[in-house]
Amino acid sequence: MRSWSSPDVPVLPAGGPVVRVHDTATGELVETRPEGPARLYVCGITPYDATHMGHAATYVAFDLLNRAWRSAGHEVRYVQNVTDVDDPLLERATRVGVDWVELAERETELFRHDMEALRVLAPDHYIGAVESIPLVIDLIQRLQEAGAVYQVETDLYFSVTADPAFGDVSGWDRETMLRVFPDRGGDPDRPGKKDPLDCIVWRGERDGEPAWDSPFGPGRPGWHIECSAIALEHLGSAFDVQGGGSDLVFPHHEMSAGHAQVASPGERLARAYAHAGMVAYDGEKMSKSKGNLVFVSALRNSDVDPMAIRLVLLRHHYRSDWEWTDAQLWDAVDTLDSWRKAFSLGAGAPSGPVVEAVLAALADDLDAPTAVAAVEAWVAATLGDHGLADTSDRDAAATLLPVLDAALGLAL
Ligand code: ZN
Repeated sequence: MRSWSSPDVPVLPAGGPVVRVHDTATGELVETRPEGPARLYVCGITPYDATHMGHAATYVAFDLLNRAWRSAGHEVRYVQNVTDVDDPLLERATRVGVDWVELAERETELFRHDMEALRVLAPDHYIGAVESIPLVIDLIQRLQEAGAVYQVETDLYFSVTADPAFGDVSGWDRETMLRVFPDRGGDPDRPGKKDPLDCIVWRGERDGEPAWDSPFGPGRPGWHIECSAIALEHLGSAFDVQGGGSDLVFPHHEMSAGHAQVASPGERLARAYAHAGMVAYDGEKMSKSKGNLVFVSALRNSDVDPMAIRLVLLRHHYRSDWEWTDAQLWDAVDTLDSWRKAFSLGAGAPSGPVVEAVLAALADDLDAPTAVAAVEAWVAATLGDHGLADTSDRDAAATLLPVLDAALGLAL
């Protein structure tokens, strides 16, 4: 599937620091040590509605990781999927009376424009669920050979007990898994299942639903195996980081890892699993079902500077849960005004320590709020907000602007 266009990224002269990220599986900060290109997989959207701020926060978070690796001198191989056939998409298409293919194409295109506006670097491989069906069929056959798949009516299920490491991604106990599973697409009570936690890998054809031929009969892929198949094909096992929102920890990332680990025994799917926090609005997590969504495209259509949207996102640590307010957006607009004023002077306060602080903060588990604070302190010193204006560094703007662009994705 066509990806979107990446902005040009200035190449920074010196290698930035080693990048550390929080790994959900171990609960610790881990140093990433890419061998060859750094390999990143981020779970993509199900394109049944416009990109809201919760999505934007996740993709900007992992864009920071992409940029931190590049700043450290690594090449990056970035893969993202788009779940262009799944229950929520088909339900939505039926409800609004639109062809599901058309709906998926339209919303995917809107997502591409949103990502471009926010200066999110494009994945090298942007892969749809539909186009990955041959990969999914292959992987299911490997799981069958390992004895990890069984049939319930026309559907195929993955046996979670086939993966000795099942549970390691989330670290959750069985009771917690069983409580959350039904709210996140699981069907623990379906008769005929061997274990309530087993998940569907191939859904046999239903009336009125699209289906593709396979050795297991006509049907379509389960959501979790879509990501395992795409990740294994384009990144291989033990890639550096799998990213997504914290609502994907279980079952999605647990199951995807389970499939891959049964297919390639002894290897973790990813070396680290990183998760972005949830964004709330009007007191509750932003979600389609609650209807409390702030859309990136709606703000763009109201002529909001996308860099102000990005700055609001950067002011929150990617792992924290936080609430979007319009006041934060207007504050970011004012902040960018003062930054542009300071940078237009050319000279400013010493830039060296700011460059170091920005790169160090981002390499330290993508700590964008600390990086932004370092820039704000430089702007205040340059404009003389707390005393005399400091213009002792004649090349300050020329030094700092490429760093803001390359590391934070902020083009002023
Ligand atoms: Zn995924």
